[in-house]
Amino acid sequence: MALKAPKGTKDIMPSDSGKWQYIEEKFAEICREYGFGEIRTPMFESTDLFNRGVGETTDIVQKEMYTFEDHGHRSITLKPEGTSPAVRAFIESKEYAESQPTRYWYNTPCFRYEKPQAGRLREFHQFGVEIFGSHSVTADAEIIALAHDFLTRMGITDVELHINSVGCRECRPVYKKALQDFLRPHLHQLCETCQSRFETNPMRILDCKSEEDQKIVKDAPVMLDYLCDDCRKAFEELKEMLTAMDIPFVVDDKIVRGLDYYTKTAFEFVSTRIGAQGTVCGGGRYDHLIEEVGGPDMPGVGFGLGKERLLMLMEQNGHQFGGTTAPELFIAYIGKEAKLFSMGLLSKLRTSGIRAVVDANDRNLKGQMKYANKIGAAYTVVIGDDEVSSGMLTLKDMETGKQTSVATEDLISHIRN
Ligand code: ATP
Ligand code: MG
Repeated sequence: MALKAPKGTKDIMPSDSGKWQYIEEKFAEICREYGFGEIRTPMFESTDLFNRGVGETTDIVQKEMYTFEDHGHRSITLKPEGTSPAVRAFIESKEYAESQPTRYWYNTPCFRYEKPQAGRLREFHQFGVEIFGSHSVTADAEIIALAHDFLTRMGITDVELHINSVGCRECRPVYKKALQDFLRPHLHQLCETCQSRFETNPMRILDCKSEEDQKIVKDAPVMLDYLCDDCRKAFEELKEMLTAMDIPFVVDDKIVRGLDYYTKTAFEFVSTRIGAQGTVCGGGRYDHLIEEVGGPDMPGVGFGLGKERLLMLMEQNGHQFGGTTAPELFIAYIGKEAKLFSMGLLSKLRTSGIRAVVDANDRNLKGQMKYANKIGAAYTVVIGDDEVSSGMLTLKDMETGKQTSVATEDLISHIRN
């Protein structure tokens, strides 16, 4: 039986990879403009990093991680997200000892054992940014602005920015108790997963996807009514800044991060079009994560943006990705002399930056032209003994069928025009 790609993974074929290169270049470009530096961390880490950095009570750690023991009996996990590895590298490199804040961006595959469906894979890809070392709401606003600006540049207008505050170590315990008191009488009606979340992470019950649970939590108390002065001020300031920057938002009190290291700002960019997998970008503030992973007491804020979901939205919008990889010229030849001439011409064209291809299968002219069609060459020339001796070539425009006689030395400028 022929082997297949593992469940929940996808090959990116040459016909599609141009789109990936396009968004990757655009994301790198905007990050440079905003003053972020790229960080690349290993594809795998000690499992312990994610236990601490993502949190033991999350879905990711409880059921989605690709974890295995290596030959040295270490527990290793393929990275399920980009923030904890960036935090680990920040600590390990001692960049925290320098002047702050530190701005990183990344582009990485992520691995989560999930039920595959449209927009939900086991290997997927994320862009992300992090700002470490700033308590100021300015940092929150700046990363939201970057995400908003990027989505706008990618032509995506049918997304809504949802913002919330998840409070802090001062005010969240009070809220958590109020939420548990509200939920306790309904405990037996909640789904099994939420029943198990009740003690450890009750805030996650608020964003459960089950309709039954949604009905129950509809009237639950919300964190926003329990914020301490400091958190309330930060949330007000965030709203003011977004308004000043002309970034539309809606307050959504059901967005949670639900872990002790996450604090204050939580946000998502949600598509009104791609259904259940509608969140294209999610992020927030995590003032205790760096310390939790073994670093100094230093705050952070960041987001992760799913590239598959981004591409789904762009494709639905009929986005023009530009940049084709199809050859500009295909050189067909007849005979040995012509083949050598063609190889020489090919080198010159490539040195001048023309995308050119010559037949590599020594087949007849008909076969060569069929191949030129398949690869989408814009122009073709046929080289025979006459062309070799005269240096005059017949250039054929494959779209219109129009033929033009061109001297070899004028070929490059002709294609360029
Ligand atoms: P969801 O609620 O959809 O499971 P999440 O909260 O697990 O998302 P994050 O950990 O915040 O997602 O990851 C950031 C982004 O990465 C998401 O907004 C989404 O665009 C993308 N993403 C997350 N999981 C997957 C997946 N399994 N397949 C494809 N994209 C994903
Ligand atoms: Mg998830």
